[in-house]
Amino acid sequence: MAHHRRARCPRRRPLARWLRGRAHLARRCVRHLPHCGRVHAPDGAGRPPRHRHPRARLRRSHGGCGPRGVARPAPHRVAGAQRPARAGPGPDRRCASEVGAARRWFGAVPGGVRREARVGRTVGGTAVNEFVETLLDLPWQVGDPKPVYDVVIIGGGGHGLATAYYLATRHGITNVCVLDANFIGSGNSGRNTTIIRSNYGIPESVHFYQRSLEMYQQLEDETGCWIMHTTKGQIWTAHSVMTARTEQTRALMNAACGAKTDYIGPDEIKRLCPQMDITGGGRYPVHGASYHHEGATARHDRVVWAYAQGALRHGAHVFQHTPVTGLTRGADGRVTGVVTPKGNIAAGTVISAVGGHVSTVAGWADVRLPIRTHALQAFVTNAYAQEFAPIVSSNDLVFYVSQTPRGQMLIGAEYDRFASYRQTTTFSYLQACSKKAVTMFPFLGKLRILRSWTGICDVSTDFSPILGPTTTDGFWLSTGWGTWGFKAIPAAGSQLAQLLATGSAPLIEPFGLDRFAREAAMADPSSAGTR
Ligand SMILES: Cc1cc2nc3c(=O)[nH]c(=O)nc-3n(C[C@H](O)[C@H](O)[C@H](O)COP(=O)(O)OP(=O)(O)OC[C@H]3O[C@@H](n4cnc5c(N)ncnc54)[C@H](O)[C@@H]3O)c2cc1C
Repeated sequence: MAHHRRARCPRRRPLARWLRGRAHLARRCVRHLPHCGRVHAPDGAGRPPRHRHPRARLRRSHGGCGPRGVARPAPHRVAGAQRPARAGPGPDRRCASEVGAARRWFGAVPGGVRREARVGRTVGGTAVNEFVETLLDLPWQVGDPKPVYDVVIIGGGGHGLATAYYLATRHGITNVCVLDANFIGSGNSGRNTTIIRSNYGIPESVHFYQRSLEMYQQLEDETGCWIMHTTKGQIWTAHSVMTARTEQTRALMNAACGAKTDYIGPDEIKRLCPQMDITGGGRYPVHGASYHHEGATARHDRVVWAYAQGALRHGAHVFQHTPVTGLTRGADGRVTGVVTPKGNIAAGTVISAVGGHVSTVAGWADVRLPIRTHALQAFVTNAYAQEFAPIVSSNDLVFYVSQTPRGQMLIGAEYDRFASYRQTTTFSYLQACSKKAVTMFPFLGKLRILRSWTGICDVSTDFSPILGPTTTDGFWLSTGWGTWGFKAIPAAGSQLAQLLATGSAPLIEPFGLDRFAREAAMADPSSAGTR
């Protein structure tokens, strides 16, 4: 491959060599870095401290190796370019025409954004990546929360904010308040690997996630915010006869339920993803794959901000740094509101959308859930100079990889087997995951791990979401999103809002909490994206 022929920089070391014998460095990173994921508070508050990697100085002074050994500026900053002013209060002119501007600059070609961003192109004096990170204007309400709302949503992640957005825009219910303990998107909605797909394992899930995938395709037009949605296609590889059969079945079932998926052979896989070692390092030969044509990615925090902006503009309230510390109950046990440091807030309905913290919040309402919280880790490498077009998941090696708009390789695997609320990354995970990834993609061995992070996931026993009312009156849930909830944000938000407003939402009917009492669990292990 071309990158093998490139003049090698003497100071650039392969990942595999760097990993060997550096457990102590990784531990140091983890200790100093409670959260390394790149999420930002829209108001600038709560920004995690900048992490200094042990090799940061080397990287800064060196500037990285460009194509054919030509030094180039770090991909996230263009030398000499002025940092544009952050969008301040008042009308956000940049935001209003964001989608159109992005399309004009980059054209409609898939991957166009990524290519431009990687070379650090400047547009009108603004570095492309600065544009990407320019915050949306969020018209925050003034003052403290009101004493009473129709609906209080605990958790300002994608699900909480999307529910508020659809309640306001589709059903005219604007007396809604979203409360977040930290800043919006500080949970898993700002930490995920951004994969959107609908190739699930049971028909009910395929229908639901297909709706969400289609809503994502329209979300930029709907909200007017650029969420960097890119359709890439997802290749789900099989490395044995058994898993090849599984993928063939998945392709047939998905196609029958409306999710465009085909079973493809090794030649077609190699055409779609030339970087893949189709022999799997001699040990995991690729027999075939299911190819999900509409698999996509979108920038996670921009999705959160888009929904927050829409909800705020339509009159909903969103309060950051306002933890809910308890629920108020009526004499009949009904949940009547929430307890916060800013005082009690009464509500007709309280919805919990708190990600991995759901067991605690549900416990306040005496609701016991079939959910356990597990940590899920992910990491990115430094930028890869070539285009890596699809999303690739491996059924037998159990990992997945895609390329970010900055050109970095984004790699994830399964959640930690033991339940925990730990939000640190582990060297053993990085090592095991890198080994699998390098087996399939030898070029990854020449890259370095740049950042790693962890989120805590609300994993249900049947790997499907839990949406709607509970056995306690006035208390609703949007949970069970585990490691797969980002892709569901539009459909879940709109369906939950519809259920609350009209009493009926066919797409999420199978996903009520009562299914466990009815012995109608929606078992779907393929939710996790690796099986
Ligand atoms: C590493 C990783 C990779 C992932 N990759 C993917 C992927 O590729 N595709 C996909 O579809 N999904 C993925 N997921 C899963 C996805 O990110 C989550 O399922 C989804 O973001 C859940 O959204 P949420 O709004 O329910 O929860 P969160 O985004 O976690 O939001 C919950 C919010 O509740 C707040 N909160 C908690 N307790 C309280 C309280 N007491 N009071 C007030 N606020 C509170 C938190 O501060 C937080 O902001 C991934 C997850 C992780 C961790």
